[in-house]
Amino acid sequence: MSNQELVYKNESIAKLRPQDLEKADQFCQGYKEFLDNGKTEREAAACAAAALEKAGYQPFQPGKQYQPGDKFYKLHRNKCILAATLGTKSLEEGVHINAAHIDAPRLDLRPVPLYESGEMAFFRTHYYGGIRKYQWATIPLAIHGVVYTRAGEKVEICVGEKESDPVFCITDLLPHLSARQNERTLPEGIKGEELNLVVGCLPVEGEEAKDQIKLNVLKLLNQEYGITEEDFIRGELEVVPAHKARDIGFDRGMIGAYGHDDRVDAYPALMAEIDTQAPAFTTLCVLTDKEEIGSEGVTGLNSQYMVQFIHQLCNSQKADYITTLQNSKCLSADVTAAYDPNWADAFEPNNSTYAGKGIALCKYTGARGKSGASDASAELVSYVTRLLEAEGVVWQMGELGKVDLGGGGTVAKYVASHDIETLDIGVPVLSMHSPFEVVSKGDVYMAYRAFLAFNKAEA
Ligand code: MN
Ligand code: MN
Repeated sequence: MSNQELVYKNESIAKLRPQDLEKADQFCQGYKEFLDNGKTEREAAACAAAALEKAGYQPFQPGKQYQPGDKFYKLHRNKCILAATLGTKSLEEGVHINAAHIDAPRLDLRPVPLYESGEMAFFRTHYYGGIRKYQWATIPLAIHGVVYTRAGEKVEICVGEKESDPVFCITDLLPHLSARQNERTLPEGIKGEELNLVVGCLPVEGEEAKDQIKLNVLKLLNQEYGITEEDFIRGELEVVPAHKARDIGFDRGMIGAYGHDDRVDAYPALMAEIDTQAPAFTTLCVLTDKEEIGSEGVTGLNSQYMVQFIHQLCNSQKADYITTLQNSKCLSADVTAAYDPNWADAFEPNNSTYAGKGIALCKYTGARGKSGASDASAELVSYVTRLLEAEGVVWQMGELGKVDLGGGGTVAKYVASHDIETLDIGVPVLSMHSPFEVVSKGDVYMAYRAFLAFNKAEA
């Protein structure tokens, strides 16, 4: 061994696997469509379900005895996906789980959102997940979601995506009058109570009433959707950036889009699941909701829905549930921070992950002393890195920024709480949680290759 071979090198995909860059670009065509068609967890779950159906997956039937190679899925409460391929080994030898999330930071409408002020109508919002509020002003926004009428009829709403649609926005002060606002700190630049969406400016015709502009918005909504103001109470309406995914740079090596976190792992995990044929270990792709607010609720991974699916499968296959969990392994697929030369001070270069250097492993996440982390064992890191090396997957290992600056968590600890060995892995992202996040196409493709390598493992 030469002295140089003693040194760990974190090298780029362009250097190590230049032959994969073209494939990465191809793979990302489908990814960009997935981003544009699935801006909410409901839409992303529906897109995933359609892709699974097209690939021949059958709806999961508890109690049905499955055969190796059988593919089946469950759409959980319209917001999560569980998709599996039965392996040739017994379930008791463990399931290989790829778990990613399909919710993303955004602005939700409040239950009574509409009001009029100063000859304009607005929707009040309540932000979902960790946003930097100032980033959400003065950009075109769309409204996606569902509303239920008093009679229980479901109404789907999506405005701001078609070229012919109107969009919405949050206003900010002009520099000429911002002297007082300029004294605020950055997190206070725009406050939660100022994240109000402009939705109208014209009064209702031929009616002497209070709040004529608000009334006009209600009239238009009733004409288009048959809904009333009360119906918002039974709604889940999400305000998201109206822009589409776009290539970034003269070389088109990156993609800018809303919601890379965590569709940039969800889409590759889904594609790897679909492309897995007759695996040794049973594979399970989980696309979950509510990660951005702590994995809570019936659609978050802190609920039992994933292990209940495995439990039902164990019953069908006459496998012991606890043994199955104990031998299972999970890649908790979520984004990490890409080293940003523009903000280099926030990163420790040797332990950062870089856009373009492959799928990123994180032995642990957490904040300030690994709090909230599922610290993966050296044994699991060894297992996964050997799988990746064997398949020529370009990977890197890192942490999320400098240790005392902050941090974050993922679904890893909720999976690990069921005694399933779990490792954090994901695509590095620039401008994470902003309305326009950036990833490297090569890393997206390496994520797909990594999940496929895990699914294809034979021992
Ligand atoms: Mn995430
Ligand atoms: Mn996130």
